[in-house]
Amino acid sequence: MSGFDPDRLSVGGGNFINGRVIEGLGPEIAVRRPSDGRVYRHLSAATPDQVDDAVENAWVAFRAGGWARRPPRERMRVLRRWADLVEADIDTLAPLEAVGSTRPITEARTWDIPFTAEGIRFFSEFADKVGGEVAATSTDKLGFTLAEPYGVIGAIAPWNFPLVMASWKVVPAIAAGNAVVLKPSEMTPFSIVRLAELAIAAGLPPGIFNIVQGDGRTVGDALSRHPKVAKVTFTGSTRTGAAIMTACAETGPKPVTLELGGKSPQVVFADAADLGRTAATVARAITGNAGQVCVAGSRLIVEARVADQVVDSIAQAFAARRPGPTWRDDTTLSPIISEPQLDRIDSVVKRAAAEGAEVVTGGGRAPAPQEGSFYLPTILANVDAGAEAVRDEIFGPVLTVQTFTDEAEAFALANDSTFGLAAGVHTGDVARALRATRTLEAGTVWVNRYGRSDDFILPTGGYKRSGIGKDLGRQAYEANLRIKTALVEF
Ligand code: NAD
Repeated sequence: MSGFDPDRLSVGGGNFINGRVIEGLGPEIAVRRPSDGRVYRHLSAATPDQVDDAVENAWVAFRAGGWARRPPRERMRVLRRWADLVEADIDTLAPLEAVGSTRPITEARTWDIPFTAEGIRFFSEFADKVGGEVAATSTDKLGFTLAEPYGVIGAIAPWNFPLVMASWKVVPAIAAGNAVVLKPSEMTPFSIVRLAELAIAAGLPPGIFNIVQGDGRTVGDALSRHPKVAKVTFTGSTRTGAAIMTACAETGPKPVTLELGGKSPQVVFADAADLGRTAATVARAITGNAGQVCVAGSRLIVEARVADQVVDSIAQAFAARRPGPTWRDDTTLSPIISEPQLDRIDSVVKRAAAEGAEVVTGGGRAPAPQEGSFYLPTILANVDAGAEAVRDEIFGPVLTVQTFTDEAEAFALANDSTFGLAAGVHTGDVARALRATRTLEAGTVWVNRYGRSDDFILPTGGYKRSGIGKDLGRQAYEANLRIKTALVEF
């Protein structure tokens, strides 16, 4: 039994500056549990002055050298201790992650927490392996490059996987020797503070991992614009990413890494080895976390002659999802993060139906045991390529269906999007699978599967309006280093 009583959970946390939890002096934000709509804690946001304080502290801690100049293998040991502490803390961290987010407790236990810990281990391993290079200069000189940390990195995270997404921003930056000031989402602000406390317990010097809380327009913007923030790494919507890039251009220019929205296709050919299994994969890829996943496979593009069969199987898989609060261990359909977001999903579905789309299943609020925000997994067929439901990111459990008769048409439909985060292809034809990896305009192409594996070495990030730069992989580590050139005359 891994369920828990949300009313008996003690939820700590706030701003975290210089190794200590600090009360915010800004406005109070009521933080709600999406599973039952109740306010479970108030968050005291940081003021712009407190953001300044956090960045100044981070800057001082970075310049003091207690982290960046520590021998790389010692840095690695601290990070590994941190990962061990995260794993050992699972009974505290998992409920803290689940209670106010959309992450069901069983998934928090089996995926979010172990994945966060393993991610820390993965990035720790680069500390003594990535440096500079000796250049092929003329032999009367020695030219080489040094890979050096930026200093203070500003990190801004979304709410959909609070710990995992924030750790993808923070951990490679710290592993590379930087100090970080993180702004989590104001909707899921607490579990990450526990992660920061564990970092201190593992031996990370105070001031290297700081957290400022509050909304995006004041706290996030103040962080992006701070003159001592050398780089910003962001995960969230495309619209916010553009605002942050503007802020960084106006106050730097300084570099940005942007992991943004998606509208990812799942292309199913009739020659897929097992259409039943394929349908189950397609269903999972749009109902996991109730579709609130950046790489959610929200556009089904299916060969016309098997479309009915595949759509029927997906509808059956949808019906098997059980909505329930995140603290119950039998919940298999997550809540939607907020009522305004549920209304947005519903209005897109209703407009699609009014414009002639067929609502094959779903299309409204899901009955749930409590007053939470739950939406029925929904299939919209007969949708036009230009329809809002096909073009815009809905960020809910809504799958549109388009059909094709040949490969060229399938790939053209898949690429007909301003986004390019991920794509899935199901086929038994090896040559076609390989053509798909070349042809599809997406930062990741999955063949005969959908979703990331535990291979942290594979980078993730978007083409087109889905982003700039990568999370995970060696690329994410290197993005937290800048290159200095040295040339020595003999
Ligand atoms: P969001 O853009 O609304 O907010 C993300 C973060 O940015 C929050 O912390 C928010 O407070 C902050 N913010 C908002 N306005 C800001 C501003 N002007 N300046 C600085 N910070 C600001 O996104 P969300 O609703 O939290 O998350 C959902 C979105 O995130 C979806 O579009 C999803 O696709 C995307 N996402 C992308 C990835 C990826 O890897 N590509 C991963 C997860 C989520």
